[in-house]
Amino acid sequence: MRWRYFLLFILFAVPRAPAEGLPDLGDVAQSDFSPRQERRLGESIMREIRLDRTFYDDAEATDYINSLGERLVARSPDSRQNFDFFLLQDNQINAFALPGGFIGVNTGLLLSSQNESEVASVLAHEIAHVTQRHIARMLAQQKQSQITSLAALAVAILAARASSQAAQAAAAFGTASVIQTQLNFTREHEREADRVGVQILEQAGFDPHATVSFFERLQRATRIYEGGAPSYLRTHPLTFERIADVQNRVEHLPYRQVADSLAFQLIRAKLRAETESPREAVAYFEESLAERKFLSEMASRYGLAVGLLRANEHARAGKELAAARKLAAQPSPIFDTLDCRLRTAAGEAAPAFACYREALKTYPNYRALTYDYADALLQSGQPETALKLVEARLQVYAEDYKLYLLQARGYAMLNKPLAQHRAQGEAYARMGNIAGAVEQLQIALKSGGGDFYLLSATEARLRELRRINDELRRESGKGPAPR
Ligand SMILES: [Zn+2]
Repeated sequence: MRWRYFLLFILFAVPRAPAEGLPDLGDVAQSDFSPRQERRLGESIMREIRLDRTFYDDAEATDYINSLGERLVARSPDSRQNFDFFLLQDNQINAFALPGGFIGVNTGLLLSSQNESEVASVLAHEIAHVTQRHIARMLAQQKQSQITSLAALAVAILAARASSQAAQAAAAFGTASVIQTQLNFTREHEREADRVGVQILEQAGFDPHATVSFFERLQRATRIYEGGAPSYLRTHPLTFERIADVQNRVEHLPYRQVADSLAFQLIRAKLRAETESPREAVAYFEESLAERKFLSEMASRYGLAVGLLRANEHARAGKELAAARKLAAQPSPIFDTLDCRLRTAAGEAAPAFACYREALKTYPNYRALTYDYADALLQSGQPETALKLVEARLQVYAEDYKLYLLQARGYAMLNKPLAQHRAQGEAYARMGNIAGAVEQLQIALKSGGGDFYLLSATEARLRELRRINDELRRESGKGPAPR
């Protein structure tokens, strides 16, 4: 996991020219590093992150963090920028921005926060790093300091990840005076990200004072952690000036009682229930309910239900879920999803399918329901119904790679290799693996199946993907891919 610190080290603290040579912080230095290049670099980093075992690929939790993020982005200075929020299963309190608007959030941040405004305050700060183009400026600078190609940067990031010795890699950057320059520079960016972050937070209707309470939580955590400061502090140094600065900013703003959303409470309980062993999760929620040590009884009962499902105690899980629903007094697709999952796990095929159909009527856009239902259909040997469900959804969400993966499974069951590998290729293309996509389409065309229309459409798509692949290789200093 240390590679992530190093990644930020590259992005935020690379050795660079003295500060007087920098563009104004209000200025935009993107002339030699276009937003499109930045996005592509971000995508290539994401391709690696998705393969990392800490990547927390849960549709419900990811949708939650994205909806929270989008609510903030809508109030940011540059709401046209693409943003993608993703989760990493890591107990360290941290969040970080990558090139291209990709923002990573550790599960530890959600679990250690006391309210939603605190989480929002950290996201707003990261969003500000992106909208103020701090990363673009760093990248532009990299070019000047002759770490020219995207490939070199990507390789440096990956090498750091493989070696896992961030300290060693960081030492290669040299002298104390260089580090001092980096820190000065970082402080300016931090101050600006704090200033813009507080504005975003306030305008999005959260409590701006949460920024200060989160800082205080970090300081307490610093004293508790044996291994030193939480990783957030290593990448966003929390200096005395920084705290005082934010305190001054929020001092005159009124306190706001902002109720946590139902989704925040449930997702946090779900993270707790799913990132520990089933036994530990059940014990944790049983104890917090018995001692009434919880932020919300409703969320704790839901968390217990998730833990009990994992421990194969379906009947008890159903009871806890019903209790949580009653306490919540408002509906949520998160309850319905768990309800249908419970029925599926208990082997009640017909009631489970009815549950999914009903829930999708109410929440047609809820990803987790579609994925789970399609998966349950495939598992019970109904690929045609699964494919119909997936294809209807692809009409609306053509960029969702998970739908293509489900489609590939369905076609494989129907023994349709052309369609199967084509779907697999489309999934890879959307995961940023263009070379893999090209390979899948080649396999598809060689498989011998399919009608004239499908064959020629696949050939056309293969030509397009090859063109993109060559373009990417050119950008990273390689020649065109061998045919
Ligand atoms: Zn920062």
